[in-house]
Amino acid sequence: MVNKQTKFFDCNYPQGREEVQADYCESLDDFVVKVCEKFGVDSDKFRYGFDIHDDKEKFRESHGMSKEDYKDWMVGLASREDKTIRILTPEVAGRTTESMKAVAKHEVVHALSDCYELGNNKDPFTSEGLALYLSGQYKEETRIQQINETSFPKISELSDNKTFAQSGGYLFAGIYVGYFIETQGGVEAFKNVIACKENFADIINEADAIKWYLNKFKQIPVTQQGSEK
Ligand SMILES: [Zn+2]
Repeated sequence: MVNKQTKFFDCNYPQGREEVQADYCESLDDFVVKVCEKFGVDSDKFRYGFDIHDDKEKFRESHGMSKEDYKDWMVGLASREDKTIRILTPEVAGRTTESMKAVAKHEVVHALSDCYELGNNKDPFTSEGLALYLSGQYKEETRIQQINETSFPKISELSDNKTFAQSGGYLFAGIYVGYFIETQGGVEAFKNVIACKENFADIINEADAIKWYLNKFKQIPVTQQGSEK
């Protein structure tokens, strides 16, 4: 492993994979600053490890995850215990570089949430929803193609860690959180709901969120996807 320090990350990557390190990390420091500004927290307190793996077994083991708990779609993991993000190279993950850059941001949102409690970390709807929204994954072309007006889960189905994934949480939580933040008072309103322990399931109309999303993204050509706002 080769080590490289950035403002916020202690990065380790496989020998000869400078381009992967550059792809994943080039905009992460700026991303940290941007998210911290958005949430009004002090980015200077943030520092995390960022390990890039080209071996799935070592990736899983170093995170301390059992074979039983590991799922093949887990291509990035953030550990609160040793403050380290672990992520696979695009070819080992079986994903494009663009998609893995968004995964890197997704894990950074989890890391920031662990430090600053940006959402409610016990509720996968808010923690995953925020990561999917802020990373831009919620508007990836492959996801847009899977959304339609007739089939979507209730938010109440997305608040249980055991059923989050099978209920479509990774497809829909980012849409619902994005809809709420962009149309109902921004990050301030989001923080208020968390602080007041209100339930998003009582506040967000899922059908309205899906309509908002389809209006906003369904007509956009592929080349314009994936850029951060
Ligand atoms: Zn996540």
